[in-house]
Amino acid sequence: MIAPVLPTYNRAPLHFVKGEGVWLTEKDGRRFLDLGAGIAVNALGHANPHLVRALTEQAGALWHTSNLYHVDRQQALAERLVDLTFADTCFFTNSGTEACELAVKMARKYWHETGSPERMTILAFEGSFHGRSTAAISASGSEKMTAGFGPMLPGFVTLPYGDTDALEAAMKDTHVGAILVEPLQGEGGIRLLDDDVLKLMRKLCDETGTLLILDEVQCGMGRTGKLFAHEWAGIAPDIMMVAKGIGGGFPIGAVLATEAAACGMVAGTHGSTYGGNPLGCAVALAVLDVVSDPAFLDEVVRKSGQLRQRLEGLVATHPDVFEAVRGEGLMLGLACTAPNTEVVAAGYAEELLVVPAAENVVRLLPPLNITDSEIDDALARLERTARRVAGATPS
Ligand SMILES: *Cc1c(COP(=O)(O)O)cnc(C)c1O
Repeated sequence: MIAPVLPTYNRAPLHFVKGEGVWLTEKDGRRFLDLGAGIAVNALGHANPHLVRALTEQAGALWHTSNLYHVDRQQALAERLVDLTFADTCFFTNSGTEACELAVKMARKYWHETGSPERMTILAFEGSFHGRSTAAISASGSEKMTAGFGPMLPGFVTLPYGDTDALEAAMKDTHVGAILVEPLQGEGGIRLLDDDVLKLMRKLCDETGTLLILDEVQCGMGRTGKLFAHEWAGIAPDIMMVAKGIGGGFPIGAVLATEAAACGMVAGTHGSTYGGNPLGCAVALAVLDVVSDPAFLDEVVRKSGQLRQRLEGLVATHPDVFEAVRGEGLMLGLACTAPNTEVVAAGYAEELLVVPAAENVVRLLPPLNITDSEIDDALARLERTARRVAGATPS
């Protein structure tokens, strides 16, 4: 008999009932150190007082009115994001997937409006993850996500990630209208695109008028130590998808765009019932208060350096379990020699949460405000996790 909850997830036997900072309490009372942060969502940890205050104050005033009317919190959030980024305009969604939908629609509409509707092809990349809608799985092209759900949305070409020859060849096709890429792949195994590749993409896009769409759903919002990951390469996209960390755990996403890229999106072309509702926008403003502070971002970089150095040591002492450290900022991965599922499970036994990814990687995505002593604690738990895996793995 089918479960009351559609059985699409493989869940760990854990039931959390309370959270505080980097800590989660299981219903049996055990306290877990959370280096997953709800998959890079709880950017400021669990039950952050500043966010709780923003949410409860808004909840006492107004929950929802629809986009039939002006939403002042939405206006304020859009102005903040426009001030802080390349963007001239923002649309709010409830998730990363919906941000992908709009990014794709916006790119195609742009070419329709500017008289080249044939430029409908979007270049996307192997190992990418943009969500679970038909457009998002078509973009990623992965058999695991698309099998049985055909026909896929036409117009996507999937290229090897980071392969500049393949990119340059694909850009010669005059049907190409956009590139859709994660500057740092999360689900794909914490794979970092070289700054030079991102710069090359920008250059090729400029030469051909192609739109550069960045998916910063996971790597954005301070995760890499810049507000957005593309800032490391000194380039700017035309369209950017944001979600996860922007709500700190409240469901909200956004598409940010330049005025030119958004030229086709006039009244009536797109919408969302909940998108940009006062609750989500109030929380996102509170997240931005903290995360957009340069001193906060500097701390992310400093803590990343410290964590990374310690992880290199862990890899060196446990080559039977770990192979290498990857990533940027507080979006780090441990490529494993042992099966990553065993590492994750051994972590549970040490009351430590890490998140598996492709390429046999475990992801470390702690709340960005994790403290130095919590990093020490995390390392001690990772060390015990490694010993547990090594003890269980026949050599
Ligand atoms: C999680 C994720 C998405 C999808 O976001 P949802 O909120 O799950 O719909 C899209 N892109 C990237 C890079 C992600 O990590």
